[in-house]
Amino acid sequence: MSGALFIVGLGPGSAELQTPEASSALAAASDLVGYAPYVARVPERPGQRRHLSDNRAEIARARHALELAAAGRRVAIVSSGDAGVFAMASAVFEAIETGEPGWRRIRVKVVPGISAMFAAAAAVGAPLGHDFCALSLSDNLKPWDLVLHRLRAAAQADFVLALYNPLSRARPWQLGQAFDLLRTLKPAATPVIFATAISRPEEAIDILPLGQADPARADMRTLVIVGSSSTRLIARDGAAPWVYTPRATTAVS
Ligand code: SAH
Repeated sequence: MSGALFIVGLGPGSAELQTPEASSALAAASDLVGYAPYVARVPERPGQRRHLSDNRAEIARARHALELAAAGRRVAIVSSGDAGVFAMASAVFEAIETGEPGWRRIRVKVVPGISAMFAAAAAVGAPLGHDFCALSLSDNLKPWDLVLHRLRAAAQADFVLALYNPLSRARPWQLGQAFDLLRTLKPAATPVIFATAISRPEEAIDILPLGQADPARADMRTLVIVGSSSTRLIARDGAAPWVYTPRATTAVS
């Protein structure tokens, strides 16, 4: 079997934040598979075929990529950020596990990317400098009760929280409920970072105390970071504060 499947993380948006390994895998692919807006971020190359899909049906998309690779094509399936964080890599492995036995012989390579939480954290300072937890607030692939259960446990364990998929037009209320729960568990002064479209032209960042964090500030391009009890701000004249979480925590709070 000469085909191959590269599962490629494109980074959060800008070309500079895409790794050279990702760029090479994309340039060498005979076929690109992915959600249309992500595939659109890859420069066109003559002779390369594009297979666009909508954002749902991840397993079907993964199967399609595996069929192409099994037929001898050199396929790149793309995700934003890192392909293993709430993205296509797991969908591909699920498709392999439940699919054609021959798919296990396909050469598969996961090419890592810069996840939104790393780009967002870097843009404001170092909020993820101590223990943190990444959660998706989407209840498309898990029940909302489980989202709240995990959010509560992570807040009680005093992790910094990186919240992916905070809301969308189809899920407008999730972040509001999440903030309502967090306000019962954390001080109102806890820093909340709204990081929207990081590294893209429409990038916007706001840092607010939890007590004043308005869920309407977020959209589906936003990553929300909620501090732990030790996360702090360094005020600056004429510029937004830096946000960081110190390397050491001495007490259970
Ligand atoms: N695999 C991706 C995450 C996909 S889930 C990664 O590793 O980043 C989609 C969510 O990622 C969005 O709802 C948003 O919360 C976040 N996201 C993706 N790109 C972003 C960006 N440029 N700026 C801020 N958040 C982003």
